[in-house]
Amino acid sequence: MRDYTGFIREYASGAPRLDCARRGVYPGSVNALEGGVVFMADEGEEDVLVCTHPGLFAGQERGGLTVAPLNHGSADVLRRLFPFAKPAPVLSRDATCGVGDRLGIASPGHIRAFEASDVSPVLAQQSMRELKLTNRSFADVIDAATFSVFRAGYRGGFGADGDHLKTPEDIFLALETGCSMITLDCSDHIRREAPDARGIYGGAIAFAKRIYDEFFAAGGYAAELEISIDETDAPTSPEQHRFIARELLSRGVKFATLAPRFCGEFQKGIDYIGGLAQFEREIEIHAGIAREHGYKLSIHSGSDKFSVFPIIAKHVQGRFHLKTAGTSWLEAMRVVAETDPALYRACHAKALASFGEAKQYYHVTTNLGNVPPLETLSDGALPALFEDPDARQLIHITYGFILGDGTLRARLYALWRRERRAYSDTLFAHIGRHLALIAGKPLRG
Ligand code: ZN
Repeated sequence: MRDYTGFIREYASGAPRLDCARRGVYPGSVNALEGGVVFMADEGEEDVLVCTHPGLFAGQERGGLTVAPLNHGSADVLRRLFPFAKPAPVLSRDATCGVGDRLGIASPGHIRAFEASDVSPVLAQQSMRELKLTNRSFADVIDAATFSVFRAGYRGGFGADGDHLKTPEDIFLALETGCSMITLDCSDHIRREAPDARGIYGGAIAFAKRIYDEFFAAGGYAAELEISIDETDAPTSPEQHRFIARELLSRGVKFATLAPRFCGEFQKGIDYIGGLAQFEREIEIHAGIAREHGYKLSIHSGSDKFSVFPIIAKHVQGRFHLKTAGTSWLEAMRVVAETDPALYRACHAKALASFGEAKQYYHVTTNLGNVPPLETLSDGALPALFEDPDARQLIHITYGFILGDGTLRARLYALWRRERRAYSDTLFAHIGRHLALIAGKPLRG
């Protein structure tokens, strides 16, 4: 347990340079509060909030200060005191990117990448599938983002996405919990077998209209709507995209972004598969349709699509929403392979054992025959697995099973806590590469 009285004395005396590092205080988190101060500190195994005002946070009284844990109650207090720590609608900004943080520990690295770019973040972003597989709630996900933003002192604003929601019940829950955007997944209402576009998309358009009227038309929530029609087998042709946009807008459905299913394959966590010439022809038209109708193109399954980012950048001209999620989980596992080979081997074995079941949840074409048996690899060769598409997908889609194993989960979180600087550095580089390519400009600094 640390003693913060020296730090607070120094703060109160108006010292020009506070010695944060020696006292475990996160420098960006130091905020004045009615003649006092509140900040976050690193107590080794966990972070805590420290506040000079008694009774504001529920925690332990220590030498006239409150030392509070990072729980839901503390997150609520932070959001009330500091509006920058609360999710806000950001999709109306030109360049935005969602970076799902399935583990609740990725935001520090994400924030560093966004700070070095002109892209605005949607830090909290989870689908029901992800919530179920990681055993988390919307509140957990938003709280983790709130704490990270406060810790870093990031004041640029961030979004929270109830991602790929399909039912009014889930949408209500996400909005009530504070999500600042909903991604409405219309895929269950698309009739692929119908003879024309009207028949294919009529149900999806009616569904979107119903959800818009129920939750968005009255403006009761500070939230934006994304329409997603990407989770289907067949690509959305530019003609179909135009039809859907016109039908929705003519019915008064206002939406900030729309995610078509592009040609080729946007599989999880690996680069684009398919012809680049056709992709470029079509993305140019898709981007034009979005521009013409006043919304942004949303690019889903955007993790690691390095070969097409420059093409997308060329045609969206700085206005886009990109979604990534699994890649930040993969980078967390890369850190495990680099720093604890024995633990990585145990996770890999779990992934192999659960791959068959995990495949029901995700569309991938993984060939496990291409993943070398781990007993043939030295410890030093393990990180290179993360350069291999088949090994990436194996680990990518089995996260729920790896994290669902209580022993592995505890060991993993302990390691990620220990290696938090390494994970932050890895994510800064990796997400930074995404942002630089799709925005078409290098990171600052
Ligand atoms: Zn999608």
